Amino acid sequence: MPRYEYRCRTCGATFELSRPMAQSADPANCPAGHADTVKLLSAVAVGGTAAPAAGGGGGGGCCGGGCCG
Ligand SMILES: [Zn+2]
Repeated sequence: MPRYEYRCRTCGATFELSRPMAQSADPANCPAGHADTVKLLSAVAVGGTAAPAAGGGGGGGCCGGGCCG
């Protein structure tokens, strides 16, 4: 079940709820009981950092530039 993050505009608390997608737009009360909440865009990205693939052959990068000879 997906989790959605909400923020209470009354007290500023953020909280998560696990609920079906069909209910993602339903109002959610904050843990303190406030009903004035907004749904945050949840970062569903998992798997940690996506390191950019380093280009190049791992070699020097010096030869060819004129510094080798
Ligand atoms: Zn609240």
